[in-house]
Amino acid sequence: MGLGDAANSRKKRSARDSVNSRDLQPHKDSGKSQHMASCLRCPSTELEALPSPEGITYYLCPACGRQFAQKPGEALTERWLGALREIVYSVIFSEHPQDEAAREAAWFKSYMTREHLAFVVSQIRAEIDHPTQNVREILPGGMCASEQDLREYLSRVADILSADSPSPSA
Ligand SMILES: [Zn+2]
Repeated sequence: MGLGDAANSRKKRSARDSVNSRDLQPHKDSGKSQHMASCLRCPSTELEALPSPEGITYYLCPACGRQFAQKPGEALTERWLGALREIVYSVIFSEHPQDEAAREAAWFKSYMTREHLAFVVSQIRAEIDHPTQNVREILPGGMCASEQDLREYLSRVADILSADSPSPSA
C-alpha cells in the first residue's frame, strides 16, 4: 500500500510539474531593444549597424567580425558567408578574377533575384569598407588569386551590379 501511495504522489507531482512548465512558456517573443543587438557568438558585444537596404538591417560584430542580418520582427541571423562565398566560388580557379568581374556579374544577374543582388552588393560594400577578414579564407585553401585581386574583383562586381540596376534610393 505504501508503495502505491508513493507512486501515486509521484505521478501527481509530475503531472503538476508538466502543467506548471507549460504555463511558464512564453507565448510570444518580446520585441524589445530593436535598436540594440548583441553578437550571437559574443553575447556581451553590441553589434554595429551597417549600411543596409530598406526592410533589413545588417550588423557587424566588432569583436569577431561576423556579420548578421535582421528583418523587422524576426530573429538575428548570421549572413556573412553565404553571399560572398557564392560570389568568390565562381572564380575559385582564376588568378586574375578582376578580369572576369563583368562576365561573373552578368551570370549572377541571370539567376539571382533583385533582392539577393542588392544583398550581395551590400555585403561586398560592407566588406570593402570595413574589412573583417581575408576574403581568400572564405574558401579555405581554394583560391588561386591574391587577396588584393579578390577584393578588386568583389569591388568591380558590386559596381557593375549596382550600376546596372536602378537604385532604390533614386
Ligand atoms: Zn562577435
